[in-house]
Formats: sequence, structure tokens, C-alpha cells
Amino acid sequence: MNTASSSLHFTGNFTQQEAIPEDAINAAIAVMQGGRLHRYNVASAEEISETAALEIEFARYQDQRYCLACASGGYAIQLALRAWGIRNDEPVLTNGFTLSPVPGAIQAVGGKPVLVETTSDLVIDLEHLENLIKTSGAKLLLLSHMRGHLVDMDALCALLETHGVDMIEDCAHTMGATFNDVKSGCHGIMACFSSQTYKHINSGEGGLLTSNNDEMMARAIVLSGSYMLFERHEAAPPAEAFSALKLATPNCSGRMDNLRAAILRPQLRKLDENGTRWNDRYDAFAGALKENSNTIELPERHAAAYEVPSSIQFRIPHFDDAQNQLFLDECAKRGVDIKWFGAEEPKAYTSRYDSWKYLEPSSLPRTDELLTRLYDCRLPLTFSVDDCALIGRIVVDVVQTLSAD
Ligand SMILES: *Cc1c(COP(=O)(O)O)cnc(C)c1O
Repeated sequence: MNTASSSLHFTGNFTQQEAIPEDAINAAIAVMQGGRLHRYNVASAEEISETAALEIEFARYQDQRYCLACASGGYAIQLALRAWGIRNDEPVLTNGFTLSPVPGAIQAVGGKPVLVETTSDLVIDLEHLENLIKTSGAKLLLLSHMRGHLVDMDALCALLETHGVDMIEDCAHTMGATFNDVKSGCHGIMACFSSQTYKHINSGEGGLLTSNNDEMMARAIVLSGSYMLFERHEAAPPAEAFSALKLATPNCSGRMDNLRAAILRPQLRKLDENGTRWNDRYDAFAGALKENSNTIELPERHAAAYEVPSSIQFRIPHFDDAQNQLFLDECAKRGVDIKWFGAEEPKAYTSRYDSWKYLEPSSLPRTDELLTRLYDCRLPLTFSVDDCALIGRIVVDVVQTLSAD
């Protein structure tokens, strides 16, 4: 073994995010001093709560007319599905490779997830999607931009248009990303975002829903628990949009509060700058892996896509089971926390479709093959660019020692 390089070691914490910025902390303190934490608790009719202000600013950021803040990203997806008008047992197309809150949301609102295959670039397989549109009769795609990888959105939108299929976007990993300079989340009828700690802005928990559709947004606002206070929403459709549905729509409380909104607003202003910082970290890590490009495969970005990667994925197809285990063990010994998507027993955040036993079993051989040798590593902004280059070098070093055996 090469002692010089095998001594490379990393000591950072892969789940440590940056501190909440000072101005956000001060905004939170001001909310607490005011005592008005509930989003509809305003001192006067003129006061715009932190939550309503966040909605205005995020709608503007997304270039969409309407925005609703709510309790979590998964809850935003449930709202979107219900606001769209999903019926009991209705099939909903979605990615076979995604995170559990996505099929969970479909299940929660009584729909039936129909899972679509994954390409080697870790995006939805459009050919398989088209086949499933024909065989399932589904009228809705819940597209998950899993790990921030953007499929050719123009080709996808054309395909959906041809078949009369609507799209709701799960943008939990694409806040700040664009395709052909159009913000991710503007291609579908509604889009859902998460402000959970491991996404691009951090309020512990939180969700955002955007749309240009009056009726769907009015329904989502009432569903989210607006009581009859929907007129306190600013980034919302006019009052007329609510008249027909306000009494026919159940209140399923899942609101955001002013404390969380207060800490998100300053973070939103830093989002684009942080997007660059994430890309610098990704490039440093990927640059190290590319020196070993005959054994380590990185997903390729579409030329029209600008992504905001807060993690990196790579595949090592030639590994056998023993090498796979040694790779994970050796990386762990050197302080590098690698997630493997192929484990029989899912660990921590589950992303393997066959572990969601509440679904009707489906068979996705291409996704299976990809996940068996797919690895994932978080890139928190607490890591420097040099840290990320070092982690990449450690991965390459471990791969080389294993491949030489
Ligand atoms: C995090 C995440 C969500 C939403 O998660 P919440 O924890 O409910 O905010 C949705 N989709 C994907 C792909 C995610 O990673």
C-alpha cells in the first residue's frame, strides 16, 4: 500500500451545516420579542407577517405569481397533489429514484405511485415514462429532481404536452437551479420546495409551494389551514378565487410560523451566492474523481442545466460485493462518510424504491443496476473547497488501492 497517500485523512463533519446568519438570528429575536409567532397574528391590518413576506419574496425569486409557505417539503407535495384534485386510487407517475417523502406524499393523499426508471445520469427515463403514460393512464407526473439532476426539461414538457399529462415538480434539491435560464419549478403546474436543514435554506423544517394557477393555489391555501384568513396572504390569488371553494375544502393544518419565515428571508437573499459556493465544492470533488474516470463514473449534466449540488453522486460499476464493502469501510476509516444506495437494509434516509413496502411491488431493473454501485456524499458549506478536493482524493486513493488488489 502506498503509505504516503493512505495517510490522507479527513476530520470534518458531513452533517454540519453553517450557522444561521446573524441578520436571520436578529430577525428571529424580533419575532419572539413581538410575541406574534402565528402567521395570522398581526398587530394591524397593514402589518405583513414574516411568513407572508417570505411568500412574496419567494414568489418573486421563482418568477411565479403565488407562493404558500407550509410545514415541510413533504407536506407541500401533499398539498399540491390535493390542490391539483387527485382522486382515490389515481395513478401518479414519479421517479423510481427519489426520497421517501415523495411516494409517501402520493400514498398519504390516496394516490398510487407508478415508478419510472432512471438513466445513468440519475434523471427520469423519458422512454420508460412515455410507455408508462400509455399503460397506466396516469394524468399526472410528480417529477422529483432527485439530488438536483435536471432532465432535459424541454423534451419532458413536449412529451407531457403530447399526452395531456400535468406535472408537479419536487424541487427539494433544485432551489436556485435553472434550465435554459428558466428557474427549476416553473415548468410544471405547481412546484414544491423544502427548507429542511439538509436542503439549500435551513429552518429545521419547512416547505414552500409555488404556482401561477389561481384555483389550485386558493385550494392549497385553504387546505394548509388558513381558516377564513386567506386574505392575509399577499402572494395569493384574488378573493374571488376562494369563494367557490373555501367551504368545500377541508382545513388540514400544516402552516409555517413567523419564526421560521424570519430566519429564511435573509437566507433567501444569499441563495444564489451559496449556489456558486456549492458548485465550487462540487467541482473540486468531481475534479479529483475525473482523474480516475475509467473506473469512477459521474452523472453528466445537461448542457442547458445550471444545478446547485449540495451533494455528489458517483458510480463504480466494476466493484464486486467485497470491494464495495471494503470501499465503504476504508472511506469511513479515513473520515469520509459515503452513503451507498444499494444496501439490502435501508439506512438513514431511504431512497431505494423496493424498501417502500407499502407500495405495490414494481420492477425497475435499470434503477436496480444503477443503485447497486451508486455512492453519495454530502457537501455542506462548512467544508472548504480544499476540503472537498481532499475528500475526492481520498475516494480515488481508496478506489486505486482496491482495484490494484
Ligand atoms: C427532502 C426531500 C423532500 C422533502 O422533505 P421534507 O423533509 O419533508 O422537507 C422531498 N423530496 C426530496 C427528493 C427530498 O430530498
